[in-house]
Amino acid sequence: MKCALVRQDGAVVHAERHPTGAERGPAAVVDTILDVAEGLAGKARADGRTPVACGIGVPGLVDETAGVAVWSANLGFRHVPLRELARDRTGLPTALGHDVRLGGLAESRLGAGRGVAHVLFVAVGTGIAAAHLVGGSATAGAHGAAGELGHILVRPGGPRCGCGRPGCLEAVASASAIGRRYTALARSAALSPGGVGASGRPGSVGATTPRTVDFPPGGAAFGAAEVADRAAAGDELAGRVWREAVEALADGLATAQALFDVESMVIGGGLARAGARLFDPLRSALRERITFHREPRLVAAALGDEAGCLGAALLAFDSLEQPWPCG
Ligand SMILES: [Zn+2]
Repeated sequence: MKCALVRQDGAVVHAERHPTGAERGPAAVVDTILDVAEGLAGKARADGRTPVACGIGVPGLVDETAGVAVWSANLGFRHVPLRELARDRTGLPTALGHDVRLGGLAESRLGAGRGVAHVLFVAVGTGIAAAHLVGGSATAGAHGAAGELGHILVRPGGPRCGCGRPGCLEAVASASAIGRRYTALARSAALSPGGVGASGRPGSVGATTPRTVDFPPGGAAFGAAEVADRAAAGDELAGRVWREAVEALADGLATAQALFDVESMVIGGGLARAGARLFDPLRSALRERITFHREPRLVAAALGDEAGCLGAALLAFDSLEQPWPCG
């Protein structure tokens, strides 16, 4: 959990990190969130500041209007009235938001999308999700589920996604999917004698791959950054996996551009740290797919993993300006 005291101008005056401890179950996670929020408000007062609002961001399905964490795969939330709970604990007006939409909110107002009216923020990490921002506000959708870019179908019959369907974008192009796919192909190629590559065609795997690969211990998968490094160093199998992921991502972004017609796409999450190794081929692949639409500017996110935390603060300040008090 990334936590902070944030001034109204977006400046962070104090930051803390706490383990989520999701394995303890959703009730314990909620307790920790409330304890941290109360602690931060106390810290602000002890420092002579006046806390005016509390903002919380969580993953999954979030009903921002009702202030309810509706559903989260990783945290086990099922209809948790988090806004009310935090308001009761801290005594502060509270806003609840979705982690990726909050990240997008912060990037659009304080980060890489600053000064741009139409922005799509795309987080590519263990999954892929997006937030569409217009004039610095994120659209949440009718059911709090807008922006699930990771679950658009890009490869029918492809790898099975966590949602159960084969071929979703995040099953091919998320950082986790890239690591998993390279690891599986490299293992099977290393096991097959005679230089038969994972595609089944002799000679399809280069001389540097994959027999020299030192696999991570305990059956773990390589990270996407490692795959990018190996691809850049001439590992053909890594190059293939990386290329396929970039092309799938470009398919997803081209679809998003057809829907949203944005000026900038801000790419965040772990995969964006690959820098030019991601952005150079991704720009080319997206350009190839754009016909009559305007090509969006592809830029790396600027706020790192604190974006969601900053966005929660921005949402909390926004809620104070609503004609009806939020919470
Ligand atoms: Zn899916």
